[in-house]
Amino acid sequence: MPSQPRFDVLISEVGPRDGLQSVSSIMGTAHKCAWIDALAAAGLQEIEVGSFVSPKLLPQMADTAQIVSHAAARPGLTVMALVPNLKGAEAALRAGVHKITLPVSASPAHSMANVRRTPAQMVGEVRAIAALRDAIAPRVHIEAGISTAFGCTLQGLVPEDEVIALAASCVAAGADEVGLSDTTGMANPAQVRRLFTQLRAELGEQAGAAHMHNTRGLGLANCLAAYEAGVRTFDASLAGLGGCPYAPGASGNVVTEDLVFMFEAMGIRTGVDLERLVAARQALAAGLPGEELYGMLPLAGLPKGFKPHNYAA
Ligand code: ZN
Repeated sequence: MPSQPRFDVLISEVGPRDGLQSVSSIMGTAHKCAWIDALAAAGLQEIEVGSFVSPKLLPQMADTAQIVSHAAARPGLTVMALVPNLKGAEAALRAGVHKITLPVSASPAHSMANVRRTPAQMVGEVRAIAALRDAIAPRVHIEAGISTAFGCTLQGLVPEDEVIALAASCVAAGADEVGLSDTTGMANPAQVRRLFTQLRAELGEQAGAAHMHNTRGLGLANCLAAYEAGVRTFDASLAGLGGCPYAPGASGNVVTEDLVFMFEAMGIRTGVDLERLVAARQALAAGLPGEELYGMLPLAGLPKGFKPHNYAA
């Protein structure tokens, strides 16, 4: 199922994967299902529900196949999972995901540390995964997310032409779309606009999502810059869960509630009901008691007289 936005933009919720794998406590299966149900009930149309990795490495993700079957039973929801390699992709395809996302790092140092493979070896993995998909689940959509696209904590600057060349290699290897991730929270809006403009010039409609972090407070500004460069799919995490914050009080992933509020306030339709979205924080808190929840909109509430643009349709 390709992620054609039914509204003006598609918000891809990554909390159940990116968020849960970054916290030390493990959310139980029933709590994960209840949280995903609350997210879908708020109008989110795409959810990254988990990852297919070794349960020894990430015990938080051991039940991902069960979570996929639960989420896939919801009509209209695109169920996405992260896979680090061919083995994970096979498990994801057999579990019934609609979309898989594979992290391909532009920084060789980060790539070795994260998946113990070079960027070129990861492109080979994309090719093998696309062949397997064609053979056993031809409708499944494959996304490559270029991690450390805007800078790397190990290597520092990542040359922009290397990022774009890697993205083009992923498409040539069979990825349906390629997005850019600010894994380390180093991006700024000028850089985001420049890189996504180049990506769209190179890949056209196969240019994918913006995955921005709020580590240094620029998450929303970077999303807006990406929107202005033509991006229409945005990853975000409810309550900003995950993303390895570097500083106390600074969240990792862009907060879904704040991002939806920004777009809706601008008249850019997301399809998401803000009140129900904020209510979904209760399901998150119930499954992860004591975990810190971020977000400015939930703290301040909707402005007086605020008219959401999504309910009428
Ligand atoms: Zn993230």
